[in-house]
Amino acid sequence: MPVSGRDYPGTWEQFLDWFPDEESCKEYLIRLRWPQGFVCPRCGETSEARQVSRARLMCPHCRYQCTVTAGTIFDKTRTSLRSWFAAVWYITNQKQGVTALGLQRVLGMGSYQTAWMILHRLRRAMIRPARERLNGVVEVDESFVGRSAPNKGRVGKHAKRLADQYNMRRSIVAIAVEIKNPKGFGRVRMRRILDTSEASLLPFVQDSIEPGSLVRTDGSWAYQSLQENGYRRDKKVMVGADDPAHVSMPGVHRVAALLKRWLLGTHQGSVKPHQIDAYLDEFAFRFNRRSSRSRGLLFYRLLEQAVVTEPVTYGQIVSDAKHRK
Ligand SMILES: [Zn+2]
Repeated sequence: MPVSGRDYPGTWEQFLDWFPDEESCKEYLIRLRWPQGFVCPRCGETSEARQVSRARLMCPHCRYQCTVTAGTIFDKTRTSLRSWFAAVWYITNQKQGVTALGLQRVLGMGSYQTAWMILHRLRRAMIRPARERLNGVVEVDESFVGRSAPNKGRVGKHAKRLADQYNMRRSIVAIAVEIKNPKGFGRVRMRRILDTSEASLLPFVQDSIEPGSLVRTDGSWAYQSLQENGYRRDKKVMVGADDPAHVSMPGVHRVAALLKRWLLGTHQGSVKPHQIDAYLDEFAFRFNRRSSRSRGLLFYRLLEQAVVTEPVTYGQIVSDAKHRK
């Protein structure tokens, strides 16, 4: 477990002490990226890298030269690492989500586009924790997010069908929540899905939940093959059409409510469907680390993920956003 004051700065004062210049930021990234010693990206040997210049490292085996930022989200950035670090600190210290405009103001950046780019790259880095699947008892259900969401926490069958039919501006979000015994919630996984069919929901379950887990769902046909796929199923059949969701699916209900409140607080609820994916990643990152008392630890975790996340260009992010619709 990383320790405050040793592995990450615990306060803003410490942050300023630790990262007075680009060099200190680079050294920190080297520690995060190669905790077991430098691993050459070309020959794969682990060793003590030789510092060729301020920015370059060289593998003593094959003499390959690289920078600590190559192949990470900081690749070829024209923004200083200090500004990146400050952005990470700011983002992980905000309880609410962060907007590009807010980031631009706080960091005093000249360009809105740069702030936007940094924010989006960092959101990409937040996706990484989703590798380890949920297990134990897991609730799965869908919820509407975006404009004019119905008041009911759960999506009624009729509303679902309407949304499927018209593909309205509201997005359907599949939510999986670990249920702890005797009480409380564990981690969460979320994904925007195009409809509530098996073709949309089963892959979500398989990507998000460990086989063998007990999956609690409603009576939808979309979940009929869970058992065939190695899951145990706990089917909660609603008696009457609109049984209150907090009774049968307290975890999903709670997470959906928090997600909506968070989107409302940060983005005034005006979330376009193509933006939802990035926001879901950010929300899940925060939610899954909600018990991290130390804000510095979140800073550490996000940077740790940033150095193992592939770089993306501005063009890629924009075109992705368009194609996701
Ligand atoms: Zn090498």
